[in-house]
Amino acid sequence: MTTKKGVEDRATHHASRVTEGKEGAKRWVVPKGYLYLLEDTCKGCGFCYTFCPKKVLAQAEHFNAKGYHPPEVVDAEACVMCRFCEAVCPEFAIWLEEAEDAEGG
Ligand code: SF4
Ligand code: SF4
Repeated sequence: MTTKKGVEDRATHHASRVTEGKEGAKRWVVPKGYLYLLEDTCKGCGFCYTFCPKKVLAQAEHFNAKGYHPPEVVDAEACVMCRFCEAVCPEFAIWLEEAEDAEGG
């Protein structure tokens, strides 16, 4: 259901819900759990956002510690937890974790 509030929530989703997760990874709430990103491990290959079938991810404008553009979550609610991003990342920098009690669930 898309309400006006829902649209507003979606617009602020990325900014408001990215948090620090375990191992210093960034963490986003997705509908079935969490998406984690070790931003400074990323080599900027682009596989994760290229292969995400739902366009959940996009290349961030900022640089990580290695000077690469990491991915960022731009539409968390669209994530279907297919784990393609996790499977294609050569650096094991991005992964999903199912959680029944996740805020987005
Ligand atoms: S789990 Fe699938 S839908 Fe979710 S961000 Fe990764 S590739 Fe995209
Ligand atoms: S697949 Fe991994 S290394 Fe490549 S851009 Fe995504 S997070 Fe970075």
